[in-house]
Amino acid sequence: MKLSLNTLPQGRSEQIFDSVAQLQHDESIKWKPLRLELKLSIDRHNQNFYLRGNIICTGLFICETGMEEFEDILKGDFEIILTYNSKHLNDNESDEIILLPGHETEFDLYPLVHDTVLLGIPISHVCGPDCEAGKALQENIQAKQEPDERWAKLKDMFNE
Ligand SMILES: [Zn+2]
Repeated sequence: MKLSLNTLPQGRSEQIFDSVAQLQHDESIKWKPLRLELKLSIDRHNQNFYLRGNIICTGLFICETGMEEFEDILKGDFEIILTYNSKHLNDNESDEIILLPGHETEFDLYPLVHDTVLLGIPISHVCGPDCEAGKALQENIQAKQEPDERWAKLKDMFNE
């Protein structure tokens, strides 16, 4: 997921990255990424590149309530400034600025995409407010907790 910097036009441009392969091959990801769309808005001013990324990622997850698989869409965005000029590093401290080595003509977007996608995962990740699989699971557990009939009969025998 590399952005070629030297071929970018001055001013605004936009690029779409939609290969999900790198996320799918990432062994640190424990769910199944299915689709990815990164819409990257670029604003180039000579040696500076203002990037704004908008990410939509669809994946298969395990519902925390019912333990079943469900599809969900993660959304997120990032903003970053790339520069070849180190004097810009002090100018704007609130923004995230990355200093590019002078010989670098490409910027790897993958770490940003990876972090943004992972930040999009809710802390409690469930299929929805009413999880059918969760209800079934709950009923199953309750059923198992009911005393076995045979034990009940034995108990009655001792009580007599
Ligand atoms: Zn569920």
